[in-house]
Amino acid sequence: MWSLDPPAITARHSYDACVGATKDPGRRRLLLAAGDSVEAASERFRRAAHSGTLHELPGTGFTVPGIPAEEAVRWVYGNGMVNTRNGRAIYDQLMAAPADERCPLCGHGVVRTLDHYLPKRMFPALCVDPLNLVPACADCNHAKGESLPVSAETTLLHPYLDHIDNDPWLTARVVVTNPVWLEFYVSPPPTWGPLLADRTRHHFELFGLAELFAVQANRTLNNIRQHLTTVLVAGGRELVRAYLKDEAATRLAHRLNGWEGVTYRTFASDDTFCSGAFSL
Ligand SMILES: [Zn+2]
Repeated sequence: MWSLDPPAITARHSYDACVGATKDPGRRRLLLAAGDSVEAASERFRRAAHSGTLHELPGTGFTVPGIPAEEAVRWVYGNGMVNTRNGRAIYDQLMAAPADERCPLCGHGVVRTLDHYLPKRMFPALCVDPLNLVPACADCNHAKGESLPVSAETTLLHPYLDHIDNDPWLTARVVVTNPVWLEFYVSPPPTWGPLLADRTRHHFELFGLAELFAVQANRTLNNIRQHLTTVLVAGGRELVRAYLKDEAATRLAHRLNGWEGVTYRTFASDDTFCSGAFSL
């Protein structure tokens, strides 16, 4: 939903760094011997991700050879990446990628964890593959859970691979009820094909972004209502609109599809709102 540069760390480098410090010699030997197989699994993952066929990946074939899935995740990800120095350095580097610690999945929450794009329990061979590790806020991590793409249309946007930041796709409309509120939705630009539009809508729905953004817009309105009232009395509807447009412009220049800028832009474009419906 909000793009990140793909990690420069290779899957093999990450795996070797994570398992290389395993204390038990027998376990370390077993893990290191699985390196080629893990690397091959990562390559299959990459090919599928780039060709839009992640939904066709089988639920098998992504194990760490000779190690049950639960143990592989515990040894490689839990012990190897989260709790040892070399692995933790990679973890921290991936976590630090988003500007302002902003979750790339919702564009709002604070990054708290690494989300496994393909669930680690079903794809243990990818449990420390950087391409499969997306920094995320706790809400998005929870909302996604172990969901899997079941079709091309239900394949979630991937921050490392899907770059839609420069296309205006987020929009909203003012709903004049009491209280007034904003309804956010995906409005795909004409340059998009139907698949990208469907994937973006699916992403928007799975993470509950319409509700999240509406709540934030409502808070924004509560914070500026008194000022809008003053401006309306002083200069009427068009002065209210000019203020809101200015506020929108600086936010949209920073993030074209941020809820902040879209909120102000939507307020500014609505005659009823600018004429005083913000008081409802
Ligand atoms: Zn989030």
